[in-house]
Amino acid sequence: MSYICIYCRKEWLKDTGEFAPVKKDIMIITQTEIKKRLGILKGNQPVVCSQCLPKHRKAVRERDKRRMYFLIPIVLMIMIAIYYTTSIVQTLMFLCTMTALFILFILITYLPGVEDDDKIKESIQD
Ligand SMILES: [Zn+2]
Repeated sequence: MSYICIYCRKEWLKDTGEFAPVKKDIMIITQTEIKKRLGILKGNQPVVCSQCLPKHRKAVRERDKRRMYFLIPIVLMIMIAIYYTTSIVQTLMFLCTMTALFILFILITYLPGVEDDDKIKESIQD
């Protein structure tokens, strides 16, 4: 098994402490499972290296900001819909649509998390 940075694709054969492993969340587990079924699983451990960590943190910050901008109109629309819709069926249908859109939005803005984010050596970065 080797470790591969998800940003720069740099590869390590052993844990040198120059990178942080990517958190095994539901997205990573699903991806691994799909690759396993397709027979294309290489068994590499996705990591973020110390050089790419600032890039990763910036991406996460920007993603969170983007999520906030989208969340406000979504919450407003739900409140307006609950207030103006006349039947429960109408409200439920609207809520289902919003939930689907919300899940889609979460998937689109997905970024993998990193374990031990603060423990990784940052002295190497420029
Ligand atoms: Zn990297």
